[in-house]
Amino acid sequence: MFLWNSSDDKLQEECGVFGIWGHPEASTITALGLHALQHRGQEAAGIVSYDGKHFHSERRLGLVGDNFTKKPVINKLPGTSAMGHVRYSTTGEPALRNVQPLFADLAGGGFAVAHNGNITNALTLRGELVKNGAIFQSTSDTETILQLIARSKLAYDSVIEDEQVSRFIDALGSVEGAYALVALTGDKLIGVRDPFGIRPLVIGKLGDFFILSSETCALDIIGAQFVREVSNGEVVVISDQGIRSFMPFPVAPYRPCIFEYIYFARPDSVVGGLSVYECRKKIGQQLAKESPSFGEVVVPVPDSGVPAALGFAEESKIPFQLGIIRNHYVGRTFIEPQQSSRDFGVKLKHNINKKAVDGKSVVLIDDSIVRGTTSVKIVELMREAGASEVHMKIASPPIKFPDFYGIDTPNPSQLLASFKSIDEMRKFIGADSLSFLSVDGLYKAMGHKNGRDNNNPAFTDHCFTGDYPTTLQDNARECFDEPSQLVVKKEM
Ligand code: AMP
Repeated sequence: MFLWNSSDDKLQEECGVFGIWGHPEASTITALGLHALQHRGQEAAGIVSYDGKHFHSERRLGLVGDNFTKKPVINKLPGTSAMGHVRYSTTGEPALRNVQPLFADLAGGGFAVAHNGNITNALTLRGELVKNGAIFQSTSDTETILQLIARSKLAYDSVIEDEQVSRFIDALGSVEGAYALVALTGDKLIGVRDPFGIRPLVIGKLGDFFILSSETCALDIIGAQFVREVSNGEVVVISDQGIRSFMPFPVAPYRPCIFEYIYFARPDSVVGGLSVYECRKKIGQQLAKESPSFGEVVVPVPDSGVPAALGFAEESKIPFQLGIIRNHYVGRTFIEPQQSSRDFGVKLKHNINKKAVDGKSVVLIDDSIVRGTTSVKIVELMREAGASEVHMKIASPPIKFPDFYGIDTPNPSQLLASFKSIDEMRKFIGADSLSFLSVDGLYKAMGHKNGRDNNNPAFTDHCFTGDYPTTLQDNARECFDEPSQLVVKKEM
């Protein structure tokens, strides 16, 4: 889902979804699942449960662990079915009205929905809906789906044999972009993946009970079995009768987002049948093949650069060292000392392990460069700690194009690689050398031995190539209408 942030001209998204059907401890399991998906969003979390009569909703700003581990909160979410959502932390105003799952009383009963991804024609659809009398309660694109369901005239479809599912599918027919959705009604849990399968969604099973989750790591934490991925363009309906599957959308090639493998997914997850950890290690190995180095130590920028650095060290035979130590307990807000050093922010998160790098030629590995902020600061800190040379190696190609499908990358004016050459970037970062993985190298590392098949790419890699699998209707509009001028009180 995206949110419009009037103070910053970018869409903000990144989320995780989870749901379970029929389990006596549904909301506890959902809280645990969301906790494992916390890396996909730290701004807010929410759970909706159904107890056979009523829906219950708890939506909170902040981390899952701070909000959903206490009995009084879980007790407010009774029932044997539940689903939830984690949302990304951004600088935009965190308003409770935008926290998912969103819920509406629709024809056929209550309907809760949680969304990972980004609808690329949401503003266009929203404009039309508002003109036709829709009243929006949030600034989230996900509400567009609810509004479309509410207006769907398709009450029954003889194949689907379910009014709510028929309306849901009908509504999604107008939607473009990326969506991995989990929805809960009084008698079913629904999972949907967009026709290209851009964002991940898997089916798991805990005993007899079906689960939907953004990533497999959330299945592991609760001891659930991985059943299979939800296919691209598939709708799965889980109820007391079991699981049913529909493929109602026009057929499209499977093109999951390659950035899940580079940065976004947890390394212990399996996405599209591939271990994210293994992919990252192979990416590091490929990087070492493409840009050999004579440094003395390989140092990852933790945590994102660690698996690629292991692969790089293995391939290059240069020793791996933890030259940067990350503090995992950095909160969202921290009072800066008035006499703050320039590097306060980055030092709070990353400190250089002087012993490992002093006097050495360091090969520094990170997964990606977005604005360049991290790299500039880390290279500077490396030099202060006595590194004789700093060779920066990036385990992905240059990010030249913005994302519109659920990963928070800025507009091109802030994407370093979109307006600087590699040598200009090197100078900006202050490194002795700077190399990126090639697009073909990335595909080779992902098991495509001939590199990228330009006629039929196996992933969506638009951040690197500008090849967007869907139309970007909202983006083509000359200006976005800001959807809301309502000032919402922050509720913590
Ligand atoms: P930057 O400092 O702006 O160049 O961002 C690059 C750093 O942010 C790298 O260390 C990445 O691990 C991390 N990163 C990459 N993509 C994202 C994203 N979509 N959201 C948050 N962090 C990211």
